[in-house]
Amino acid sequence: MERYRVRPGTTVDLASVDPADRSGFDGDKHAAKELLRAYRKRLAELQRVFWADGSHALLVVLQAMDTGGKDGTIRKVLAGVNPQGVDVTGFKKPSEEELAHDYLWRVHRHAPARGRIGVFNRSHYEDVLVVRVLGLVPEERWRRRYDHINAFERMLSDEGTRIVKFYLHISKEEQKRRLEARLQDPTKLWKFNPSDLDSRARWDDYRIAYEEALARTSTDIAPWYVVPADRKWYRNLVVARTLIDHIEALDPRYPAATVDPERFVVP
Ligand code: AMP
Ligand code: MG
Repeated sequence: MERYRVRPGTTVDLASVDPADRSGFDGDKHAAKELLRAYRKRLAELQRVFWADGSHALLVVLQAMDTGGKDGTIRKVLAGVNPQGVDVTGFKKPSEEELAHDYLWRVHRHAPARGRIGVFNRSHYEDVLVVRVLGLVPEERWRRRYDHINAFERMLSDEGTRIVKFYLHISKEEQKRRLEARLQDPTKLWKFNPSDLDSRARWDDYRIAYEEALARTSTDIAPWYVVPADRKWYRNLVVARTLIDHIEALDPRYPAATVDPERFVVP
């Protein structure tokens, strides 16, 4: 999955990444489903030992344009994991109270505890994305935020949090299909938000904002992955495999015995 990682200090050109790419897997959709099943099982095993070990937290950041598949990724990739060990936080438009604080105030309190997996469905990155595109704060303010974010993530990492960030990369045509599907399917209509069309109209502004955010904040301790996401099954495989790789790299272990089982009999 290394091919999708944004190397620190490089520029990002999203036009050069094909949202329909599937070059990391040579099977068909059916084979992909089988493999995802295996990945889910592996993630469930890893989560159990990760929790038991309790020495690290895992923070997963998901960002995408509307309909990019953040919800679907959470549903499909984490389906096998014990819900008790996962905290999913969705970041919406900040409340009045949140706006009265610095932009990281509402974020930090949702950072996962050791042993837990925290998933951010949107995140502090909105504060250099939508905030930039809509001009919600002056440029001199949002420009400083890349450094704040890098320092914040460095702190979390130093204190035991593994950070993995995914940008789910869909094409503008695929977004059109997905928005139309929402309009046509009564079970999806509730997800249609007319303001998604305003964001769609600013597609290129968002692309530029994403390119700069990804380039400036992909670090060794908190890497970004640009995930081809027009094909949901491929997106799921890339995210699942990347998470497995990151948890395995932490090498979680069940704690060593503190009692001698030979000395106890359960009456
Ligand atoms: P959704 O994820 O579709 O439920 O929509 C959440 C909305 O909240 C999106 O339009 C985001 O752009 C918006 N949002 C999230 N964080 C912020 C933020 N810090 N400032 C302004 N809007 C935000
Ligand atoms: Mg939405």
